[in-house]
Amino acid sequence: MVIIMLGAPGTGKGTIAGILKERLGIPQVSTGDIFRKHIQEQTELGKLAESYISKGELVPDDVTIGLVENRLEDDDVQAGIILDGFPRTVKQAEELDKLLDKKGKKVDLVINLTTPEEEIIERIVNRRICSNQDCKTVYNLVLNPPKQEGICDKCGSKLIQRKDDNEETVKARFNSYIEQTSPLVEYYEKKGNLYSAIVSKSINKLGKDVAEDVLNFIKEEK
Ligand code: ADP
Ligand code: ZN
Repeated sequence: MVIIMLGAPGTGKGTIAGILKERLGIPQVSTGDIFRKHIQEQTELGKLAESYISKGELVPDDVTIGLVENRLEDDDVQAGIILDGFPRTVKQAEELDKLLDKKGKKVDLVINLTTPEEEIIERIVNRRICSNQDCKTVYNLVLNPPKQEGICDKCGSKLIQRKDDNEETVKARFNSYIEQTSPLVEYYEKKGNLYSAIVSKSINKLGKDVAEDVLNFIKEEK
């Protein structure tokens, strides 16, 4: 099963993908996480990616597509994959379709998340993530705080804040989403595999609630 997480920054893509990964037993592949790992290890790709990410711009398509193309070859993703943050442009979506087609696969479900713009900044500046690469649980200091300050409930590792999770970068990231990524909503709507959900405290739906809704939807579909 191929699942895509679509949505502006701070809508809960990573949180929901993390829950689906555990409950469905399908690996989660986040292009943002892959880039951050390269930045940490100071590889050439990391240096290139950082020059875009720090400005809130998208990393160029050829780089990102190549990365995903390689990852799709790995054994662990042959039975299923949750793509978290990819595709983010129409070009990436078209290339993904071609890559899957070659393997006799297709995109099965696109989870399209929306959050009111005024909540997004608040969600992002208060976001903290587990520094343990195998855990990466997402917290929010206001909406979903850890039991012990600065420590992951699940694995006890230190919580960190992403460098690009600041107010200035968020605005640029949101604009990149509107201009380059939001056309994908129509792209997948036409294909008929779009599942849309609102993530907002105003309707008491946080990422974990939407994840349950998605799991019920997948169960019913079967
Ligand atoms: P968020 O959705 O909160 O912005 P991500 O971890 O998905 O976080 O992405 C962080 C950054 O990595 C993005 O702002 C962008 O610069 C880069 N990035 C991630 N995925 C892609 C992609 N598919 N195409 C281009 N750039 C990407
Ligand atoms: Zn953890």
